Amino acid sequence: MRILVIEDEARLRDLLERTLRGEGYAVDGVGDGAEGFERASGGGYDLVVLDVMLPTMSGLEVAMRLRRRAARVPILMLTARDTVDDRVAGLDAGADDYLVKPFAFVELSARVRALLRRRDGAAEGELRVEDLVLNRVRREATRDGVRTELSAREFALLEHLMKNAGRVLSRDQLLAAVWPRDFDGGPNVVDTYVHYLREKIDRPPPRQLLRTVRGVGYVLGR
Ligand code: CA
Repeated sequence: MRILVIEDEARLRDLLERTLRGEGYAVDGVGDGAEGFERASGGGYDLVVLDVMLPTMSGLEVAMRLRRRAARVPILMLTARDTVDDRVAGLDAGADDYLVKPFAFVELSARVRALLRRRDGAAEGELRVEDLVLNRVRREATRDGVRTELSAREFALLEHLMKNAGRVLSRDQLLAAVWPRDFDGGPNVVDTYVHYLREKIDRPPPRQLLRTVRGVGYVLGR
């Protein structure tokens, strides 16, 4: 996942970049509206964090121009004042969500995740492996027509296993893909969550989908 941060305040831009990198995203930062627009319209970004007050081209203008070019990249706008007019202007210009400065970085991370989820859900809807279906919008799995709700971590783990169906994944690979970088537990937590998932979505052999590959890790699908 690659994120473009367009913010002219160097200190804030630096903090934004570091926060998002800490969440595992690749991040590019620019401090100028026109340059930001050029970068964003070149494509290759999964999300744009966009300040409103920028030199050479305002954030509102950047958002409008991107939408005029039919760029569908999610835009999270950073506004300085919380007035209804500012919010409406940002959303009218094509932003998907906004944050009012000063904001907490945990909230920024949560909004970014939500926007990326929304985009993934809209783009791909559901994942399917044999008779297991994962609905990424409602965050629920269906097997044998029985719907099961998943916790955030169970969902992320199952999604990763389904995207890589048929491929053996080690505990370390699963840990790196699904758990936050600063998670300080060991790879045994993966076993715990695989157990939870089995209880929820799996069936006994020969209908078992989530198999243990002894000494290596796990694989979903036959
Ligand atoms: Ca600014």
